[in-house]
Amino acid sequence: MNPLFEKTTSLVREAGSEFGASLAIVTSLQREGVVMVDVALKTLGALRVMTIDTGRVPAGTLEMIDTIEARYGIQVERIRPDASLADAMVELYGRDLFYDSVPKRSLCCNVRKVWPLARALKDVGGYFTGLRRGQSETRKDVPVFDRAATPVKINALAEWSAADVAEYSALHGLPENRLYAEGYTSIGCDPCTRATKPGEDERAGRWWWETDEARECGLHFSPSGKVERTADVLLREILEKVSSKR
Ligand code: SF4
Repeated sequence: MNPLFEKTTSLVREAGSEFGASLAIVTSLQREGVVMVDVALKTLGALRVMTIDTGRVPAGTLEMIDTIEARYGIQVERIRPDASLADAMVELYGRDLFYDSVPKRSLCCNVRKVWPLARALKDVGGYFTGLRRGQSETRKDVPVFDRAATPVKINALAEWSAADVAEYSALHGLPENRLYAEGYTSIGCDPCTRATKPGEDERAGRWWWETDEARECGLHFSPSGKVERTADVLLREILEKVSSKR
């Protein structure tokens, strides 16, 4: 038996003792997330399972939510964006604003993912993720217990390789998103994810049109002369739009 499997079960028990009912999983139900759901539910019996439904997730991911609910007899909590903010953003900048610039992409991720998640986690003390150090250069140092984050992020699969995930999934007959069969190695929102090519980083298909050269100072001046970042200007505009409708 792969020693990481037992180690992860112990870690899940440890997190269960520390956080009790305020423990959750936040997952987009990629292979790692499904492993995490399986280990955690088998170890702890019950646990909140949360997913972010940005309104742009692929059909394959929506199918996975149904599959997981049926397999484990649970209700997956869907975290959704504030409809008035999302509508104002689309009205001002278009539905596919993220292709225009990095600040617009960040705005969309904030409106559809980051802020709704922050709201949903208000009564969560700690939550499991599916992050692995091998997934990308930016994840190579993720700690198992990220106590600098609030709530605490528990990256219980941090030490796992893609092969460990595949081994566990095969051993337990876990379902997987059909997009993997189409060459995807990381699955996010539909318009922001593509399949990867052999040799590419696992997450190379996410926001693939953005390049390292996409650096801009992104500074603007507000009507009052205050320096603002592009992202803040965009945010100010959508907030003004929302408040004008109230
Ligand atoms: S991944 Fe794309 S569609 Fe999804 S929230 Fe971010 S920018 Fe918007």
